Amino acid sequence: DSSPLYVGRFAPSPSGQLHFGSLVTALASYLDARHLNGQWLVRMEDIDAPRCLPGVDSDILHTLECHGLHWDGPVLYQQQQHARYQAKLDSLLADNSAYFCACTRKQIKANGGHDNHYCRELGLTAQAVSESAPNTRGLAIRLKLDCHLSAFDDGIMGRVDKTGAISKAHSTSADLTSSSFAEAEQHRDKSNSRSDDGSISAGEVSPLSTAPEDVVIKRSDGLFAYNFVVALDDEYQGVTDIIRGSDLLNVTPLQRAIYRSLGCNVPQYGHIPVAAVTPGRKLSKQNHAATINNKNVLENIVNGLSFLGQGDYHANEFENATQLLTMAISRWDRKLVPKIAEIIVGEHESTY
Ligand code: GLU
Repeated sequence: DSSPLYVGRFAPSPSGQLHFGSLVTALASYLDARHLNGQWLVRMEDIDAPRCLPGVDSDILHTLECHGLHWDGPVLYQQQQHARYQAKLDSLLADNSAYFCACTRKQIKANGGHDNHYCRELGLTAQAVSESAPNTRGLAIRLKLDCHLSAFDDGIMGRVDKTGAISKAHSTSADLTSSSFAEAEQHRDKSNSRSDDGSISAGEVSPLSTAPEDVVIKRSDGLFAYNFVVALDDEYQGVTDIIRGSDLLNVTPLQRAIYRSLGCNVPQYGHIPVAAVTPGRKLSKQNHAATINNKNVLENIVNGLSFLGQGDYHANEFENATQLLTMAISRWDRKLVPKIAEIIVGEHESTY
């Protein structure tokens, strides 16, 4: 088959302009994709419409272009994909892989927190729902998750356990990390028979209590759930590799379980450190991280490369972003990225 071996993506939510932390994420996923001769896509994650700000999508795209981060193909907007999401939802309901759920958070908590199979057994159909409760609030729809959360090998952080924690052994050993990278490469080579299919490895304890709750894929307010559409989009766009911030590590085991339950290929992951103002406080628009200044393109990229452990580049040695990126692509090395969840860049540096 002629599908490319590597398809990466940058998936910003247009709820705020790019700041240093999100530019670094874009840069890392771009460099990784281009270094491996892959495609690099951009997807606007605007599914949560109330949180999106008008015009921010074009500002983000403009900033990427100014920094020479040119993407392949058209930008995919989640808001334009509702028909595809709904079609998948309908087919999941039709084959009994998903079901309507009337439980409130409170009831689930009272039930012991996790096991909400009450509605699963009830088998509420769309018709029964509309006949019995036409005027009540909408019901949520849950996807059956018949698998456990599992540990995985991150292409940057090394071994990550099923809670999303980075293994200490891997995070301090360059050797172990490079072998897990080699393993990830191997998975790519046999992309149709990924051993990374989430099967529970020998010896891993998997009591029922660790089974994730069946995940909501359409909320009772009628919005598609973020984790559902991300999986559908990655599958639809043929994404093989996801380079993103470590703030998403704790949701990765669940997302991997969702891909598997939907029958989608599970992508390879590589998580980079998050840029934080103080421990535990990542740069974000909430803490007033400065918007990237498009007049300082070379400095911004040099600072991003240094954050990513790629060595010392000097802005004055390059004429433009493309020249700098060409060198950074050829020298890109995942193994040099610090294997820590966050790097404190301080308030002043958030003004890059
Ligand atoms: N849209 C998400 C964010 O901006 C990114 C999710 C992802 O890369 O998987 O945090």
